Amino acid sequence: MFAARYIPGEHKLKIDDIPKPTAGPREVLLKIRAAGICHSDLHVLHGEVSYDHPFTMGHEACGEIMEEGSEVKGQFKKNTLYAVHGPNPCGDCDYCRAGKDNLCDSPTRQFIGLGTDGAYAEYLKVPARNIVEVPAGISAEVAAVATDAVLTPYHAMKTLGEVQTNSSVLVIGLGGLGMNGVQIGLALGAKVVASDLREESLALAKQMGVQEAYNSKDLDTKIKNRKFDVVVDFVGAEATFKTAQNYVKNGGTIVLVGLGAMTVPVSTIAFASFQLRVQGSFWGTHQEMKEIFELIAQKKINPQVETGKMNEVNHWLEELAEGKIKSRMALLP
Ligand SMILES: [Zn+2]
Ligand SMILES: [Zn+2]
Repeated sequence: MFAARYIPGEHKLKIDDIPKPTAGPREVLLKIRAAGICHSDLHVLHGEVSYDHPFTMGHEACGEIMEEGSEVKGQFKKNTLYAVHGPNPCGDCDYCRAGKDNLCDSPTRQFIGLGTDGAYAEYLKVPARNIVEVPAGISAEVAAVATDAVLTPYHAMKTLGEVQTNSSVLVIGLGGLGMNGVQIGLALGAKVVASDLREESLALAKQMGVQEAYNSKDLDTKIKNRKFDVVVDFVGAEATFKTAQNYVKNGGTIVLVGLGAMTVPVSTIAFASFQLRVQGSFWGTHQEMKEIFELIAQKKINPQVETGKMNEVNHWLEELAEGKIKSRMALLP
């Protein structure tokens, strides 16, 4: 079957022909219908994160079940889309048992498509416990990108930022995650202000229903003297993290999602004197994945997605690296 493989030290994926996998006793085999591409792929291909073994890349997967393992037979539906929970938790460790399965620390666990075989392929075998049924009416490309680009901001804002009705929220950075973050804030009933350097992203955020969207350069005049319960930094650069500290309320929370810089400056005076909290956030849980699909099915979140051909994956990853993908992109077989 077709597979686009990470080879240690190579900056492009190897387009390969490998044997079709078969499902183990507690696994299912999915025929991939869509696979999202993501900046995390670039971090690996550019050598910022490295692995010592080859694997098929692609951690945002949606497909149909072709084969059920002997111990999970009859548990799943035919002609139905399933999305893969990319953190690929073990199900047995203390984190998994506590429902914090995005933090699974099993030594044998590896993320789908980031350490173990993923979705840039015709077929993908995964543990049956790590798939979620996609409600009817949601396309494969939307479901695939949602497993990261909606799940991550949902976990950051609802679960960790505790955004709720009437919370005031400043969203910094309107890439794929931030744009969905704006919609999640609105769906939770919050008052959202969005900011970005790109005018077209600000315009799109307004189309998504946000009333205030300001260029980051103008924030100091536009929202002077205003403070927010929660500031979500989807960029994670020095400048954005400083902005977050300037605009968070006393006792408020900065949720850090973006990995724009390796380190960011923290004002000891601001953090101590105003009891600020910084909350790191990583991906999301199995349970939250069910919740986001409900919100998407109810049209409370409309993830923007572009599509391309899976056998052109290297081309699309280059486009992503050059900033040419406006929203999120899913590759189709
Ligand atoms: Zn991703
Ligand atoms: Zn675990």
